[in-house]
Amino acid sequence: MSTARLTVDLDALVSNWRSLDAASDNRTETGAVVKANAYGVGIQPVARALAKAGVKRYFVAVAEEGAAVREAAGPNVEINVFSGHMRGDTDMIGDLNLIPMINSIDQMLRHVEALPGHDFGLQLDTGMNRLGMEPDEWMAVRDSALDLNPTLIMSHLGCADEPEHPMNPYQLNLFNELTRGVNVARSLAATGGILLGKEYHLDVTRPGVGLYGGLPFADATPVVRLDLPVIQTREVPAGETVGYGCTWEASEPTVIATVAAGYADGIHRLMGPRTSLYAGDIPCPIRGRISMDLIGVDITHLDEIPQGLTLLGPQQTVDVIAGNAKTIGYEVLTSLGGRMARRYKGG
Ligand SMILES: *Cc1c(COP(=O)(O)O)cnc(C)c1O
Repeated sequence: MSTARLTVDLDALVSNWRSLDAASDNRTETGAVVKANAYGVGIQPVARALAKAGVKRYFVAVAEEGAAVREAAGPNVEINVFSGHMRGDTDMIGDLNLIPMINSIDQMLRHVEALPGHDFGLQLDTGMNRLGMEPDEWMAVRDSALDLNPTLIMSHLGCADEPEHPMNPYQLNLFNELTRGVNVARSLAATGGILLGKEYHLDVTRPGVGLYGGLPFADATPVVRLDLPVIQTREVPAGETVGYGCTWEASEPTVIATVAAGYADGIHRLMGPRTSLYAGDIPCPIRGRISMDLIGVDITHLDEIPQGLTLLGPQQTVDVIAGNAKTIGYEVLTSLGGRMARRYKGG
């Protein structure tokens, strides 16, 4: 086995979904966001496990991802597509019964012309300036849009991972104002929004990163474990260096293990100087620069040469190594490369 192995604990994923569901208002339906290959961990096993656990409503970024969910989760779940009704997606939306989350008046016209009577949802922009109709655009078409019976109206919070940020109540108030009196299910909260409190939950929530064990859901159970096989070990005498650029020099005789993974697998070079791999509970610091396919690790203090070392697991979460690489857990997860073998536990 010379490739890194990513183990995905589907039982932990389902338990994170249940915890976020339990944290939500009783009247609220908890959906699941599985875009970007389910945050890098594998869209079909994830969708299947969540469907088995009773999840009825999925969110994806693009129609192709919706097709993967339809195949995995079956005909009876609702699949909402954030990019809306894009040119060229009509057949997929129609044939696979996807629900486009319409972003603009142009998209709405395209949708009702191409697929009259087909379900759709609406996105309103309440301040992120990313996707959705602007408030004045929406107020101009609101009555005629509502006559077409949208299944869901949603907006997205820009600062939900900062509970005290004034943007949160601002967006909530604006969304409530724009949807006052509508008789359509409403959705505002992703993981961060669920944790802000019940007034943000409305009818449907859309957790993503929390399902996969990432912040801002601090109580999440870790879902991914990443083990890197040791290819070779050597003793490096004092004064010699390890890796490209000679950035690390041994100050005493050091045993270096070369493991099979690198930045091509999504292990960002930036994390190197601050990150250790683990032999069980024992941290083993990375030495020298992370290469494309290889990483040098200091195992001088171990009694035995291990077969592999763990980068992600209960010892070290995605958010820890994200911090080491000056990024966020979302980026670490979605960067984990296609080259590594994925193994699924439970579900
Ligand atoms: C990605 C995304 C989500 C999920 O967000 P998390 O922070 O991962 O829970 C929800 N809604 C929209 C519109 C998104 O783009």
